[in-house]
Amino acid sequence: MGDLLNGKRGLVMGVANDRSIAWGIAKALSDQGAELAFSYQGEAFGKRVEPLAASVGSDFLVDVDVTDDASLDAAFAAIAERWGKLDFLVHAIAFSNKDELTGRFVNTSRANFKHSLEISCYSLIEVARRAHPLMQSGGSIITLTYGGSNRVTPFYNVMGVAKAALESTVRYLANDLGPEGIRVNAISPGPMKTLAGAAIGGARKTFRHTEANAPLRANATLEAIGGTAVWLTSDWGACTTGEIVLVDGGYHVLGMPQSENL
Ligand code: NAD
Repeated sequence: MGDLLNGKRGLVMGVANDRSIAWGIAKALSDQGAELAFSYQGEAFGKRVEPLAASVGSDFLVDVDVTDDASLDAAFAAIAERWGKLDFLVHAIAFSNKDELTGRFVNTSRANFKHSLEISCYSLIEVARRAHPLMQSGGSIITLTYGGSNRVTPFYNVMGVAKAALESTVRYLANDLGPEGIRVNAISPGPMKTLAGAAIGGARKTFRHTEANAPLRANATLEAIGGTAVWLTSDWGACTTGEIVLVDGGYHVLGMPQSENL
């Protein structure tokens, strides 16, 4: 427990269950005194998120599907009415058809390309546009990406393209919103055992490979990702924007696997 985020209020989007990266972040932010609202996707997820939210003292839940403008409008209207301001926003949302997170990239369909990029990248712009007028005293927006954006990871396929677009979006939003004192960053963890993570072909192999080869010989943890989000949300992160912060045990510095794992 600490007080780095006392008095700060924010929306956490993307908790599906207690293994979600968004949940790790929510807990860490709450431990530092932040007051949280949660968005969930549909009733079934809502039932799972409600007790988690309650465990960090929140009864502020909004149902949002990021492809549905009306649900986004309603969520931000509820925040404006209840809080009148927003200090931070966590966007931990991605989706792609599971059938295309395996097999050959060359078979990516037009429909799934559009859908994946809409949910996994464009939605950040949609939420930033609604959030920034509420961030009158500046703010922090954090999204989640993965190193498959600029290096090929087996079966990550169209999600790699979506993450590359998302990382570019972070930089453009950072520049656009910077004059308002709003910082926009992405956290890039290594592979995590979550619902979304499990949808990627060979996920277990990627998890084990990263663990065996990363300089720290470890994968990221929800606590380490949460700690990074605390830093980016707090005043300690005041001069960091447009950044992709790697939380991957150092995996990204490798030029080749460790020799014992060849
Ligand atoms: P998760 O399944 O727990 O979370 C994904 C969330 O996206 C869910 O809460 C789901 O409801 C939400 N979502 C999907 N489509 C939506 C829509 N149309 N409207 C609203 N919400 C929608 O998995 P996670 O791994 O915690 O994923 C969170 C973020 O972290 C994603 O951006 C993911 O790409 C990223 N990430 C994951 C890993 C990993 O290995 N799991 C690694 C790096 C980055």
